[in-house]
Amino acid sequence: MKAIDSPAPRFRLVLLVAIFLCSLSSMAAERERWTAQERAVAFTIDDLPVVSNIPRNSAQLHSITDKLLATLQRYEIPAHGFVIGAKIAAQGEDHLHAWLDAGLQLGNHSYSHPDANAVGADSFSQDLMRGDAALRPLLQTRDQALEYFRFPMLRRGNTLALKQSIAEFIQSNGYISAPVSIDNQDWVFNRAYDRAIAAGNEALMEQIGLAYVDYLSTIFAFFETKSMEVLSYEPKQILLLHANAVNADYLDEIAEMLQRRGYRFITLQDALKDPLFNMPEHYIGNRGLSWIHRVAEGKGMPIEMEPHESGWLENLE
Ligand SMILES: [Zn+2]
Repeated sequence: MKAIDSPAPRFRLVLLVAIFLCSLSSMAAERERWTAQERAVAFTIDDLPVVSNIPRNSAQLHSITDKLLATLQRYEIPAHGFVIGAKIAAQGEDHLHAWLDAGLQLGNHSYSHPDANAVGADSFSQDLMRGDAALRPLLQTRDQALEYFRFPMLRRGNTLALKQSIAEFIQSNGYISAPVSIDNQDWVFNRAYDRAIAAGNEALMEQIGLAYVDYLSTIFAFFETKSMEVLSYEPKQILLLHANAVNADYLDEIAEMLQRRGYRFITLQDALKDPLFNMPEHYIGNRGLSWIHRVAEGKGMPIEMEPHESGWLENLE
């Protein structure tokens, strides 16, 4: 009997080691999943319906909207679009219906995209309400609320009186200002991309598009590090992009780059629950800034701006 019994402890040991290794590897997988879900970003896409630096016909404008929406849906990105009221009539409100049909939300980005620092409180407020009047009836036909306002160029007023006056106007009209934590120069890349499209230069389009995705990766790395320096944690981020051709053509690559960095995609409402966006900011100046820079300034830290496009795009002409 001993000869039969004796392998059992060894077998049990092998079994125990196997179970232990299995549980280690499943713990590692669990940890990987947890890490992968730790980062979160809300996409906000400005200047709807479409940004175009070159003449485009209606079909070409719609192609940009269609590509953006298809990719947002494919990656289940609950983006929030911000509309410039004056462009609705010019480009067609069917773009906005397409956004709503895709289950996405829309906010007010003013009527004519004024610079709060330049036009003064009264003119700025009137323009905001003109933007409201252009967008709200359309949203009402779809039972959608209009809750969020995005400052053009992220400029909120360059004197304390102006800033407070505009902030009070926004709040008293039931709006929530939608801040940005991940600012960038996608519009500079798009300007060059549009020129390459107009020139029919596909090789250059691809060169610009791939450089743009790399650049956005650098931007995220910068703000992840900056978040740790300023906040000692990485908040739920709010990304600003524009409804343009380079984003329409490269949003797949951008979504995949972000997934590789461990991001999941959340709504603006969800991101705004992060403590970062309840932190006060007291920046008074001309610049449109990430909320992280604003909080840094309030803590007496120097504002170190995010990487700028290096200038080669401007030299392409
Ligand atoms: Zn804008």
